[in-house]
Amino acid sequence: MRGREFIMKDAYSFDRDEAGADKSYWAMYDAYQQVFKRLGLRFRAVEADSGSIGGSFSHEFMVLADTGEDTIAACTACEYAANVERAEVAAPPAPSALPAIGAIEEVPTPGKHTVEDVCAFLKLNDVKLKNLLKCDELDLAAPELMQQVTNAPVGFAGPVGLNVERVFADHELLAADGWITGANKGDAHLRNVSLPRDAKIERYADLRVITPADACPRCGGAIELTRGIEVGHVFKLGTKYSEPLKCTFLDEDGKEKVMVMGCYGIGVSRVVASCIEQNHDADGIVFPPPIAPYEAVLCCLDPKNGETLGKAEEFYTELKAQGVDVILDDRDERPGVKFKDADLVGMPLQLVVGGKGLARGIVEAKDRRTGEKTELPVDGFAEAFRAWRAAVRAGWGL
Ligand SMILES: [Zn+2]
Repeated sequence: MRGREFIMKDAYSFDRDEAGADKSYWAMYDAYQQVFKRLGLRFRAVEADSGSIGGSFSHEFMVLADTGEDTIAACTACEYAANVERAEVAAPPAPSALPAIGAIEEVPTPGKHTVEDVCAFLKLNDVKLKNLLKCDELDLAAPELMQQVTNAPVGFAGPVGLNVERVFADHELLAADGWITGANKGDAHLRNVSLPRDAKIERYADLRVITPADACPRCGGAIELTRGIEVGHVFKLGTKYSEPLKCTFLDEDGKEKVMVMGCYGIGVSRVVASCIEQNHDADGIVFPPPIAPYEAVLCCLDPKNGETLGKAEEFYTELKAQGVDVILDDRDERPGVKFKDADLVGMPLQLVVGGKGLARGIVEAKDRRTGEKTELPVDGFAEAFRAWRAAVRAGWGL
């Protein structure tokens, strides 16, 4: 679901030093946690790549929903969560002793150049590579360039004797030895390749995309991939903008200093859209109480009956007195239409006044989220409603 409007809440912080900027950042981070908690959303704050906005570090606030456009790697044991572009893959433990590797052997492999398969398997993370190389753009080498630097068609490149200046390798490659690689020669591969022995690797680094088979980089726990919708983002910008823009101040010694900045946004309209993506069923929207258009709806089944309408209005007044945002459905419609509309719009608390229930001295109450029905007594309605409302809200984690 996407809204036609895009309303954004933006905030900036300006501090005299790094410590102050960190304090502002974490205060805003905590405030955002509270905001999304109070909205009744299931979300994760994830470590994110600062991307084009840049700066020192950042967190995205992601509402968890299967339709989300981003993939998040989240630990099932600790708080660690990160956008997959960013999620660290821990270095493997250094092996105490690797088996001795025999001499390199060339193996003829005519026609075996399934580079797509290899790439699909490796899933090199271009964000990590860009950060390592401090560059903004990466391109896959064209076949002609591959031919030029490897003396072989695409599919037979390897690190041994490769005619390029700099070679980087994923740090996981240090955990084993004796690889099969391309031979930089058409229709041939090399066996028994030992990277430290046979290749000139400038640096081993964390370069690939995390998978559920990897362990949490913080605690070693299991990693789960989930999808999410970004609804907020906090950045510690540092002096990336204040320095070139000369955003300075005079300190107590009269010295000119650069302010240390942070910036913080919430996609207000996206919050509503993502909330609906996360909370709906076949009958319509299931709004969390804090952002529902009305927390409660009173369906008066027979508004033409003065006694029934009188009771409904009495409950309406009581709910208002309890601070509940409530709407009274006294339209001249069949009960089925009213129930369907209440479900469609997604009011979390639904009360039915009239019919046989009222004759028995009860008001039927339905929790929109669970569909669970409860009978509230007309005598002592105020107290019974108060307790029921608290229970429904507790179900939302409120
Ligand atoms: Zn963990």
